[in-house]
Amino acid sequence: MAGLDDKLAEIYDEVLRRNTGEAEFHQAVREVLTSLGPVVAKHPQYADSAVIRRLCEPERQIIFRVPWVDDTGTVQINRGFRVEFNSALGPYKGGLRFHPSVYLGIVKFLGFEQIFKNSLTGMPIGGGKGGSDFDPKGRSDGEVMRFCQAFMTELYRHIGEYTDVPAGDIGVGGREIGYLFGQYKRITNRYESGTLTGKGLTWGGSQVRTEATGYGTVYFTDEILRASGESFDGKRVTVSGSGNVAIYAIEKIHQLGGAVIACSDSDGYVVDDNGIDVELLKDVKQHRRARVAEYAELRGQGAHHVGTGSIWEVPCDIALPCATQNELDADDAAKLISNGCGIVAEGANMPCTPAAVRTLTDAGVAFAPGKAANAGGVATSALEMQQNASRDSWTFEHTEERLAEIMRGIHDRCLETADEYGLPGNYVAGANIAGFIQVADAMLALGVI
Ligand code: NDP
Repeated sequence: MAGLDDKLAEIYDEVLRRNTGEAEFHQAVREVLTSLGPVVAKHPQYADSAVIRRLCEPERQIIFRVPWVDDTGTVQINRGFRVEFNSALGPYKGGLRFHPSVYLGIVKFLGFEQIFKNSLTGMPIGGGKGGSDFDPKGRSDGEVMRFCQAFMTELYRHIGEYTDVPAGDIGVGGREIGYLFGQYKRITNRYESGTLTGKGLTWGGSQVRTEATGYGTVYFTDEILRASGESFDGKRVTVSGSGNVAIYAIEKIHQLGGAVIACSDSDGYVVDDNGIDVELLKDVKQHRRARVAEYAELRGQGAHHVGTGSIWEVPCDIALPCATQNELDADDAAKLISNGCGIVAEGANMPCTPAAVRTLTDAGVAFAPGKAANAGGVATSALEMQQNASRDSWTFEHTEERLAEIMRGIHDRCLETADEYGLPGNYVAGANIAGFIQVADAMLALGVI
């Protein structure tokens, strides 16, 4: 199989056979295996001990019915998932996604990515992910609350500070985490703050957790710029999405002197020649729960909404895909290159297709994979767990400094590992190999379990 040596190709074939119809999971596994050839050549014990085969099989997969009653009194049925993928480094840790596209293959892709990402942070957290095919869009607060309560009524028995610690992801923000935590507390009769992260500041949350994924992606990008003696100053940046990750990426880019000239949602994108007004964007998306088209209307001159085509047509120096998986394909990559884009860093999970990644890296574009670039979110979740465990709360400045330090550490570890394996500047290989080795060594130490 192209790109994989015999042993790894055999493992990949087994993954295809045992997980039929789960295209995103196959893609995520293949992306990691493609980097592991040099590791297995240098350390055959990883292949011989079946550690890679074990890594590809989740430790536990939970699927459950979520019945709830909508505002018209009609009973609705959704499906809930939690995939507890790997706990060699610590309790399972990873977000919950509420989106109609969610099925087992999406949850497994995200859970698999999470293992390596969490390992890269250097924090004691394993990998997991969950969610539901519930669509919060257009639902009232009461409906979202009843859904979250029904979801937690099953999930609560599987999670806990030392077992599995969920957080947010697409469709799960502060409102949803509040309803989920409330129901967990009610059922268990225990105020176990460390069971969920992304909580509000008045009930066990951490400063900077809301901003962390977006800020962290920008810190990582800043390190890439620094490595070639550059900075964000004066750079034109395109950020896809307009949710949690995108909004705080935009905010931090502006603080560092860059200008974000476009962002999007699933109904199109907005171009704002004067730079996106992040406070207005927050008002539109977080408070009104409206669309980016409304941002363009409210912003007026200099901003316009485009309902068709791709945001990646907008010329920029740096592109940060921060919406969803496979949103940037090879054609988009070619457009970015021809418009002079020099850096692509993934704020979302796996937003670039494998062909897009090849197109970008072949053209010499610096490419940072999500498992490294967006690890700031889960790293700050681990800081939230740390504060909960010690019943402490840190200042914004202290927490942000910890986040920046962690992102610098991940960046340097990726480059050092890539160098060690003779692949200088290859962030993909560096992230996959560094993330893998730490988990694999822990698995070997813990025996066949
Ligand atoms: P949000 O729900 O806050 O925002 C998601 C954004 O992406 C929205 O603008 C949404 O538009 C857009 N989007 C979602 N699905 C699609 C689609 N199929 N096509 C086009 N646009 C789409 O989620 P987050 O910002 O939290 O997450 C964004 C990405 O970042 C995801 O890949 C997530 O896994 C990843 N991530 C998030 C972390 C976090 O801490 N939140 C941590 C690490 C990674 P619309 O409103 O139209 O759906």
